[in-house]
Formats: sequence, structure tokens, C-alpha cells
Amino acid sequence: MTANILLVEDEHAIQELLAFNVTQCGYYPIQAHDAAEAMIHINHALPDLILLDWMLPDCSGVELARRLRAGQRTRNIPIIMLTARAEEHDKVLGLESGADDYITKPFSPRELMARIRAVLRRRAPQMSDETVSAGGLELSPSTHRISANGAMIDLGPTEFRLLHFFMTHVERVYNRSQLLNNVWGDHVFVEERTVDVHIRRLRQALEPSGLDNLIQTVRGSGYRFSCK
Ligand code: CA
Repeated sequence: MTANILLVEDEHAIQELLAFNVTQCGYYPIQAHDAAEAMIHINHALPDLILLDWMLPDCSGVELARRLRAGQRTRNIPIIMLTARAEEHDKVLGLESGADDYITKPFSPRELMARIRAVLRRRAPQMSDETVSAGGLELSPSTHRISANGAMIDLGPTEFRLLHFFMTHVERVYNRSQLLNNVWGDHVFVEERTVDVHIRRLRQALEPSGLDNLIQTVRGSGYRFSCK
């Protein structure tokens, strides 16, 4: 799954440099030149991560980060602040505003990409392309392959994303609406029972290997991937 990265930066040259590097790393860049434009994109669809410049023409990056952290829908978006200010005080202020990480200009694109990967791995592991193993399953996002107790299995794209999400969030219970937000994307208007259809297909695909019990129904709550 390609992570959408919202780049909020008013300096044209830096904006283009960011977009180029993000694309090179296999992410999808969305470009905004001020806070207002960023909010239009965010209201349309939540990005998977925001690279947020400190100094914007219409509002400070710190202010925007605070606003996002205060919003029910936006509070969990990973944010990396970009800044020309290297002082300790600013770094503390940036992190206190709710940013996950902080990087000082001029930055090396390699370092920035390493930070993006680290934040995504921590905050949105289903966006990472690292191979994950759990409960006898091994899933490789980059090759789109899954093995169940050593045997290859075939899954449709939605079941693949659903399984990837579960395998990176083991033992946690998710209701249908949370699964829709995380796997289908927010602002996607599908009925909650669609989730049940794909859970059923996923279990059917896992059944021959005897691993269908990994996907548990939690009565009244939703579903959980459990290896216990
Ligand atoms: Ca700026």
C-alpha cells in the first residue's frame, strides 16, 4: 500500500525536492503551499503522514500541528516538522505541539527518508513494506506474497490489505468502522457489512492451512488477529 505524504512547504525549491525524494522512495506526494491548502487536502482525505514546514505564510507549522492534534479525525496523523531553526527551545516546542519528529534544514534527503520510514513503521506499520510474520503467516508487501505454514496463498487486494493491517496490529480489537478507516481509507463510503464479506473471504483463503482461527470475531466489538 502506497503511503500518501502531504508536503506542506511554501518554498518552491524545497517543495520540489521533497516531492522528488518522496516519489523516489515509493510514496505518493500531495503538495500544499500553505496551511489553508493543507486543510483542503486533509478534509478531502487523510494523508498517511505530513511533512510540515515551521514557517508558512498563513499560520505557523506549530499552530497547524496543534490544530490537527486537537481534531478527532486528524489527531493520529503522523507529523514530521521541518524547520530552519536549530535551537533546542524550538525543537521542544515542535515536539510539544504534537509532532512525531523534527528535522532541521538543510537536511539530507537520505536522513529525511529514513525518518519518514521510522515514523511510518512506528505509527502506521501497515504502510511499511517490510515483511511481517505472525501465527504461521508470512506476508511480503513488496512482492505481494503470502505464505501460510510455508504454502503460498492467493488473496484479493482488499483481503491482502486487511491481513496486512491485522498482522501489524496483533491482539488488538477493531470494530468495523475502524477497519474501514484503516484498510479502506477514511471518507470512503462503504457499508460496514462490507467488512464482514472480506473477513469471510480472508478466512476462506486461510482455511486450507488451518490458520483461519487467527481471525477472531469479538462479539459486540469487531475483529481481532490473535496468535493465542
Ligand atoms: Ca517556509
